[in-house]
Formats: sequence, C-alpha cells, structure tokens
Amino acid sequence: MRVTLLGTGGSTGVPMIGGADGSGDWGACDPTEPRNRRTRASIVIENGQDQRLLVDTAPDLREQLLACRIPSVHAVLFTHAHADHISGIDDVRVLNRIIDLPLQAFAMQRTLEEITRRFGYAFAPWSGPGFYRPVLVAEPTESGSTHDILGMPTQVFRQGHGRVDTLGLRIGAFGYSTDVGEFDESAFETLAGVDTWVVGCFLPHERHWTHANLPTVLEWVDRLHPRRTILTHMGPGMDWAWLQRNLPPGIEPGYDGMVIDLPDA
Ligand SMILES: [Zn+2]
Ligand SMILES: [Zn+2]
Repeated sequence: MRVTLLGTGGSTGVPMIGGADGSGDWGACDPTEPRNRRTRASIVIENGQDQRLLVDTAPDLREQLLACRIPSVHAVLFTHAHADHISGIDDVRVLNRIIDLPLQAFAMQRTLEEITRRFGYAFAPWSGPGFYRPVLVAEPTESGSTHDILGMPTQVFRQGHGRVDTLGLRIGAFGYSTDVGEFDESAFETLAGVDTWVVGCFLPHERHWTHANLPTVLEWVDRLHPRRTILTHMGPGMDWAWLQRNLPPGIEPGYDGMVIDLPDA
C-alpha cells in the first residue's frame, strides 16, 4: 500500500494570494524552502495492485495528479464538503475517461447532499458512451462503517470540525484525519494502534475554532502513540524547517508529493 500526499496546505494554500509584489503571502513560511509550497489537502492511497483511492477533489487536483505522476484513480472518498476538498470535482471526468467507468464516491449522507446541491450534474445517471462531465456514483457511509474499497478494508469515523463533521479513515496500519478539531471516544478507538497517522494541524500555537493546533495534536499523539505522525492541512504559520527542528521524535511535517510506503492492508 502506498500513500501519496497530493496536497498538505490549508484552505488558502501556501503561499496565499497576495504579497507586496503579488508573488504570494507566505506568512511565517520561508519562501526559499520548496516544501513550504502547499496545495490544498488531499491524498491518494494505492492498493498494491495499481488501483487508487482519491481522498477529496481539491481545487488543485489536476496539477497535483500531474506533479505526483498519478496515472489513474478508481474510487473517491470525500471527507466533507468544504470548498478546498471538493471544488476540483470537474477534473474527475478525465479520471472517468482513463478507466472508462463511473467512479464510486464514498461520503457521509450529509456531505453527499451538500456536494449534490452544488455539483448535481456529477451525480446524474450516466448513459455513456464518453465522459463530458464527472460521473460519480454516491456511496453513502456513516461513522463506524467498514467498506471494502478496491480491496482495502476502510474504516470510517466521525471527526469534529466546528459546525460540520468530517470523515476520518483507517486502512490497516494507516490513518488519515484532516480537518479535525476534536475526536470522540469511538474515533480514538478506531485509531488505536495506528502505525502511520497523517493528521491536520493548521496552526503552531493559536487556538482555532475548527482545526487542531500543534499542542492539541501533541496531546492526541500522547494518547495514540503512532510510530510515525505526519502533519498536513498546514497554514502559512507552519514553517517546514522550524517544524522539522522543533517537533518531538516520531512527528514530522508533511509536504506535497510525500510518498509513504506501508504493508498492504
Ligand atoms: Zn480543509
Ligand atoms: Zn474543512
């Protein structure tokens, strides 16, 4: 099983649009460090048989798949319906063409309703041939379920994210928790024993209403003790080199294009 971090940035990416000369507002991030350039959060999980699950369709999806040399995708899972996780949905039509099939789209019912409200055409029945729009088949799921996705036993669990819930996932040794501010007990139970955990951490110190900061992530790590914890969904306050120097052993900042190889689930 191979996990590729397509994007590790928060909703605005790093740098944000702006800067005195228009070259971008980097916040606390060093512009000369390439690993500080972050697109919106998304991952791909490859099952070991050349099939891939895409988690979220970020606005940067096309560039991400090209940059990470992902030749095809066979299913999609949406963590939630915030724009930075769904608005690349139109590029799915090219993924449909590559495999010449509609793609299953796993998400919570509420998330599917919200995506359908905004991109209803992507879920309209397909009569083929050809794909002139994205063609997704809704696969509703709820916290506590396990699905066989491309042969990978995928457990999904609820995560608190301000006014909405997001879906975390666990596949064998791997866990993915983006856009999370709090976990309930059942989420901790699902994550228990996780070996490699990719977790959202938007800010170094400041409190945020919907996202964990570094002290909160460290508390979670203290409880779960993953062998390896990799931070994602990082805002412009999260400088890669500073994090690399200051994080405790076993915790590291992710970066766009990072590849993680794990035993097949
Ligand atoms: Zn987000
Ligand atoms: Zn979000």
